[in-house]
Amino acid sequence: MTESGYVTACRAVYVGSNPALGSRDKMTLRVFNTLTGKKEEFRSLKDKKVKMFVCGMTVYDYAHLGHARTYAFYDTLVRFLRFLGYEVTYLQNVTDVGHLLDTGEDKVIKKAEEERKHPMEVAEYYLKYWLEMIEKLRLLKPDLMPRASEHIKEIIEQVETILKNGYAYVSNGSVYFEVSKFKDYGKLSKRVSKELVAGARVEINPDKKNPRDFVLWINAPKEHILKWSSPWSEWGYPGWHIEDTAIAIKYFGPQYDIHGGAIELAFPHHEAEVAQAETTTGIKPYVKYWIHTGLLTVNGTKMSKSLGNFVRLEVALEKHGAETLRLLFASTKYRKPLDYNEKNLEVARKKVEKISSTLERIEESIKRATDKEPAFINKLEKLRERFLAAMTDDINTPLALACFFETLSLVNKQIDENKFSKEDLGEAEKMIYELAEFFQIIPSKKEIKIPKEIEELIKKREEARKKEDFKTADEIRKKIKELGYLLEDTPKGPRVKKI
Ligand SMILES: [Zn+2]
Repeated sequence: MTESGYVTACRAVYVGSNPALGSRDKMTLRVFNTLTGKKEEFRSLKDKKVKMFVCGMTVYDYAHLGHARTYAFYDTLVRFLRFLGYEVTYLQNVTDVGHLLDTGEDKVIKKAEEERKHPMEVAEYYLKYWLEMIEKLRLLKPDLMPRASEHIKEIIEQVETILKNGYAYVSNGSVYFEVSKFKDYGKLSKRVSKELVAGARVEINPDKKNPRDFVLWINAPKEHILKWSSPWSEWGYPGWHIEDTAIAIKYFGPQYDIHGGAIELAFPHHEAEVAQAETTTGIKPYVKYWIHTGLLTVNGTKMSKSLGNFVRLEVALEKHGAETLRLLFASTKYRKPLDYNEKNLEVARKKVEKISSTLERIEESIKRATDKEPAFINKLEKLRERFLAAMTDDINTPLALACFFETLSLVNKQIDENKFSKEDLGEAEKMIYELAEFFQIIPSKKEIKIPKEIEELIKKREEARKKEDFKTADEIRKKIKELGYLLEDTPKGPRVKKI
């Protein structure tokens, strides 16, 4: 079993031109760009605006943990870019048509046939499910979620342009991109020509000039359930890759800042996108930064349908909670493989507990604050700086988390030693919330189901306290305790815990 990549020490990272970490809009972010194969300084194409496209879900099935890991990373990236002062437009498309299986069948249509439903009913169901998952996993809702089936006009126009520019051909009513005509093919995934053929599944398609060519538009028989009229055949539907570029160019123009997705999409999906866009517009590079996430394995094995080891997201969320999953995801560098196993989950769970207990301690200790402790604040500032420096260094979340947990340890130590003022703790609490926000790891207040009877008693006790009848108030507290609940008075009012 591989372990998650927890870093134990909050060390300083030297980030080239980051002299003023205190001033967030002067910080320089560096990211690893798959296109250049290097870690580069991030500079948006226009002003402080960032356009980011992340390949969205194919809405034909439930999401699994691999999806969750990927989208959790882009969520952190968007939050951090916004923190740095960028105005981010986050687009995540919805593939409701055109994503083909190896057999050539459309995923959504096949599912619809199995379930005896209309394909759009299937798409609707899984899209609704995905929107729920976005909320449950505490992901920001993308600013734009365009659906492929609503962009057929743009897709047809783009295929026409590629044909007109001489990079595609019509064969038997379908349209194929002619890979040999686009000399840059392979520049993103770094695959050379031979590999492109050797790596491709042997496909017997007499309509293609070359097995490497990929489909832009598919001729469909009359009985095909989802179809649109096209200039090349009476009926047809789009291929998978073309929807991304048709949508991206419509909303973002011929060039934009970031394209994201899991690394296994780099070839052929993203490679095909580069080919389509650059032969449509002639503008290079189509996307400035290609940022890919690594694989997620389950108990050391790749998830696959045949192995039956897919962990469905809603099941994992129900079992472990969003904060434990998000902490687990952030514990490993986004580009590295991450293993989902009980041991790693246990570590994540304990860390989430540490966050809760530290926040509780802050709340309780604030009442007995002592004098100001300047060294405490200085240490907090240093940790915050290191946290942010780690984030600017290619979103190094394991290192940033190490700084975050060192902050918690520091707070606990200061409380143990009774060396803190009200302001110090207030500052620490603010910082914990601020930094945790990037990963969404603060546990949501556990909902304790309080019986009506207890609620009534709390109310009565509050009334007694208001009348300064402390004797009755104490008696009620005792009664609450007998019933199995511990009542505490906090600055925010009374709070009950189950004993
Ligand atoms: Zn895509």
